[in-house]
Amino acid sequence: MTTAPEETETGDAHRAPLQQTEYCFETLALHAGTRADPVTGAMLTPIYQTATYRQEAVGKDKGFKYSRSGNPTVSALERRLAALEGAEFATCYGTGLAATTALFLALLRSGDRIVVSQAVYGGTVRLLRQTLAPFGVDAEFVDTADANAFADALRKPTRLVFIETPANPTLVLTDIHLAVQLAKAAGALLVVDNTLLSPALQRPLDLGADIVLHSTTKFIEGHNATVGGALITREAALHEGFLFTRNTTGTIQSPFTAWLTLQGVKTLPLRMARHCENALRVARFLESHPRVTKLIYPGLESFPQYELAQRQQTGAGALIAFEVEGGLETGVRLMNSVRLCALAENLGAAETIITHPVSMTHGAVPPEQRAAAGITDGLVRLSVGLENPNDIIADLDRALSDSQEAAQ
Ligand code: PLP
Repeated sequence: MTTAPEETETGDAHRAPLQQTEYCFETLALHAGTRADPVTGAMLTPIYQTATYRQEAVGKDKGFKYSRSGNPTVSALERRLAALEGAEFATCYGTGLAATTALFLALLRSGDRIVVSQAVYGGTVRLLRQTLAPFGVDAEFVDTADANAFADALRKPTRLVFIETPANPTLVLTDIHLAVQLAKAAGALLVVDNTLLSPALQRPLDLGADIVLHSTTKFIEGHNATVGGALITREAALHEGFLFTRNTTGTIQSPFTAWLTLQGVKTLPLRMARHCENALRVARFLESHPRVTKLIYPGLESFPQYELAQRQQTGAGALIAFEVEGGLETGVRLMNSVRLCALAENLGAAETIITHPVSMTHGAVPPEQRAAAGITDGLVRLSVGLENPNDIIADLDRALSDSQEAAQ
């Protein structure tokens, strides 16, 4: 059971803490934060495609003034996502990286230091190294799976700790409970990028994290139809800062994206359960394949942090990372040979997606950091979708044979 924010009708709708009622996760995914339209009975929250809102008098509005600062469709998604992460507040953005940008601009100042997991989405690394470093933000990338290295990094004054667990694309886990303790002791705020699991499989705020970040582009919307992001927190003051920064930077999500995401998120619990089942089947197939030299999947006992995965997550997720005999060359041939799996830069969609992190999603990560994080040139990332797993396995089996034959 968790709490469900209800829609507020008046006042500053995207600011107000929301009324709470108790529902289970699957019910919240369908209902939290929305209700039938009181005028027409329409069950779905409309797409409020409007730039502005007519005001009754100077200083008297219905909670919305201009769609850069707030929009009712976006607010409905925010209430839904807050409920799913067990929080009071959420802000939604045009992309996941827009959410990350708003997070950093809201909380970091020139001279501030941020400790970041060494293995994180490549765009997060690029934002810190190439856009924010020139403004005086000091990012230290640390192996946050290593408790000693993590604790050492926090001996210097630190404003923010940013972890991604599981990490994209190596699937290395960070112990959130430990991260909470270390961040608290250092007087830093802890942010968890929960994109790879979604709240259906992991709820970092329940473990004590201060902020959850999502690329809603992935599992939350789930249908390869939108790009979007979210910041979710229980702290009103942090939320105020995010609202302010979102308005000053103009990074709010579009109402159409919010509407599509409201539809996608309804099936999040069902999709995540099936993603996990399918991924386990595919991981077992790959693990037993003679041409697969390395296989990483948190749901297999061979996963180095299997015990932590069992303790911290309620499912192993959809992502698999692997290497094949012949390294980069064969891996590239494999990715070029698949027919059902799509070679693409995304994850978390209904369709199975295969990605080459080094040339695609993590191309902007410096080679030394990639090496330290275990992102090898031959690493293949697979986001297992909702197709029948036999079809995914047959496609990979044939592509593995084709890629090896071509190598001979
Ligand atoms: N966080 C993670 C873990 C990601 O994988 C991504 C994108 O791949 C992002 C954040 C950025 O999200 P977006 O692509 O929606 O900007």
